[in-house]
Amino acid sequence: RKSTVVITGASSGVGLQAAKALSQMGQWHVVMACRDLSKTENAAQSVGMPQDSYTIMHLDLASLESVRQFVKDFRASGRSLDALVCNAAIYMPLIKEPLRSVDGYELSVATNHLGHFLLCNLFLEDLKNSSSSEPRLVILGTVTHNPKELGGKIPPRPDLGNLDGFAAGFKGPHVMIDGKKFEPVKAYKDSKVCNVLTMRELHRRYHESHGITFSSLYPGCVATTALFRNHYPLFQKLFPLFQKYITGGFVTEEESGKRVAEVVSDPAYSQSGAYWSWGNRQKKQGKSFLQEVSAEASDDDKAERMWELSAKLVGLA
Ligand code: NDP
Repeated sequence: RKSTVVITGASSGVGLQAAKALSQMGQWHVVMACRDLSKTENAAQSVGMPQDSYTIMHLDLASLESVRQFVKDFRASGRSLDALVCNAAIYMPLIKEPLRSVDGYELSVATNHLGHFLLCNLFLEDLKNSSSSEPRLVILGTVTHNPKELGGKIPPRPDLGNLDGFAAGFKGPHVMIDGKKFEPVKAYKDSKVCNVLTMRELHRRYHESHGITFSSLYPGCVATTALFRNHYPLFQKLFPLFQKYITGGFVTEEESGKRVAEVVSDPAYSQSGAYWSWGNRQKKQGKSFLQEVSAEASDDDKAERMWELSAKLVGLA
């Protein structure tokens, strides 16, 4: 019997290519967890995924109710959960005023972090009960979470501060995790720091008791994806060229998807608590390595505080 992997945001970019790569391996059935069902069906067909290799299920990460419903729907399908990939994200660099999730939280942190945080917590038992000997939970990271690396040095830098915005309930005037004024690019980077903190805290709390391998990866700069759809059109044109010819960071969507699929499936990636990277300058036959995460993302006290406050915001505590 095939193993089952759930991938969020599999309707485009990295998630779609990861879905394709896993479905082609033969031993995986892919559940594409997406907010737009017909877009996802078209996407799956456009990359040639065999009809019986995937199921599309509705999930809107910007609604906590939708996350809970998705978990119920998945359980009702009777499948064993063997791997979960938290991939979906939004990036809104140009907006001046914050957008809100159904629950009233700033939209990029709600989608990228809080929705996934709830999903991971609800699925822990399912992964624990997996029929696979080594279930995995993989969360997409990014170089921009990390000011120690070149790609992470460009301001505004992420900074969760003392998480005062979370502590104040993260609604109304409290739109940034640190409680400061709204900065959309920083909000995205902060959400990705939370993704890495979540992975590390999951590992610390549940690796031994649940036998789950938790990991993150930076798949490379996938400059052509729709993640940049809300940027200036000229940026969308020049960014891939800049990454290809100047920084050397450019990775195709297909290659990034293969990297995610490896971290989900390959025995070489069975280390829990790990953050994988293929580096910034892409080389032919480039090999992955364990990358250090940022100072903030490796701060255990911050991870603990982030966890407690996020649990309250998603209604788990
Ligand atoms: P895309 O914009 O191509 O894909 C994002 C996916 O997330 C889409 O499927 C989108 O769905 C989905 N999504 C957005 N909002 C929601 C929601 N509320 N509920 C459910 N799904 C949602 O981006 P990428 O493929 O580039 O990014 C994927 C991951 O890779 C992200 O976590 C990103 O941080 C990470 N990453 C990307 C890099 C890059 O250079 N592109 C570099 C490093 C990391 P829909 O189709 O409906 O919009």
